[in-house]
Amino acid sequence: MSAATSDRLCPECNGPVGVFAQEKNEAESSHSVSYCRICGIGTTEPQPDDEILHALHSTQYYRNGEGVRFAGPVEWLVEGMRRWRIHRLSQLVHKGRALDIGCGSGRFLRALRLSGWEVAGLELNDDTATAARKVHGLTVEASLEAFADKSFDLITITHVLEHIRDPRQMLAECARLLKPGGVIAVAVPNIESWQARLTQEHWFHLDLPRHLWHFSEKWLSKELAERGFSQIAVRRLDLAHNIFGWLQSLLNCLGLHHNRFYFFLNSHDLETDNRNYFCSLIISIILLPLFLPLSALLAIVEVMFHRSGTVEIVARVED
Ligand SMILES: [Zn+2]
Repeated sequence: MSAATSDRLCPECNGPVGVFAQEKNEAESSHSVSYCRICGIGTTEPQPDDEILHALHSTQYYRNGEGVRFAGPVEWLVEGMRRWRIHRLSQLVHKGRALDIGCGSGRFLRALRLSGWEVAGLELNDDTATAARKVHGLTVEASLEAFADKSFDLITITHVLEHIRDPRQMLAECARLLKPGGVIAVAVPNIESWQARLTQEHWFHLDLPRHLWHFSEKWLSKELAERGFSQIAVRRLDLAHNIFGWLQSLLNCLGLHHNRFYFFLNSHDLETDNRNYFCSLIISIILLPLFLPLSALLAIVEVMFHRSGTVEIVARVED
């Protein structure tokens, strides 16, 4: 890891802690990520308080009221990937009751329900949870305590664990909620990926300070094993997340407005009168024919070396 080492020691393993990335933004409050190579986990410092965290996860940032997060064709692609994921997970566990943690506006749950699952969600943002209940008629709770022990066959946590204050406790709760033989699928950005290591503070999936933690496959695998799960599959080939991770990170490295192209796709177009903001989008679009194939190539090579930008571990709770 190219992280510079500091004098600090990891509270878990007593190993040296390095600075992985230091955010450079215009705002006074900047964040950094400290990283323990032995444990394979990065920590955002300082951690935002609850009020800031709530504002950072506002409905507007994530998606519109209907739950549509991206512009038309991108949303179709995302929907296709949801269905493929459900098909894949259905090969590993018999159809029954599923819980999606961090279900957002409920579009993944809706797709699960359409394929024959009985579904429920956990969503901490009140407005988003209300929209999921209203628009899709879903059961959405604000705390895992609302659910009974051993009541689910499948739990999915997709790019959510890094947003949670206590990720270990959440995994322990999942072990409580799953029926014997039930399956958990946890997907996270991978801090030990090549894209993370090479682009550091420009890495798209770093997402400071919304991401409180930055995991590796090693960390996730160890934590699941400690909570009684046995690993049954590792999926590194999430091409959309991995290719886009490279694409946006490379654009960020050029000094363009941070994540500008993502904001464009995410219909999150602010400051349209800002010249730098406008030019960054135009340059991103001009570079697309070169950067998109390059990103696809890098994403594939990264997967071959088990250093993909994101990783999903599927594990079964032991009988
Ligand atoms: Zn450590």
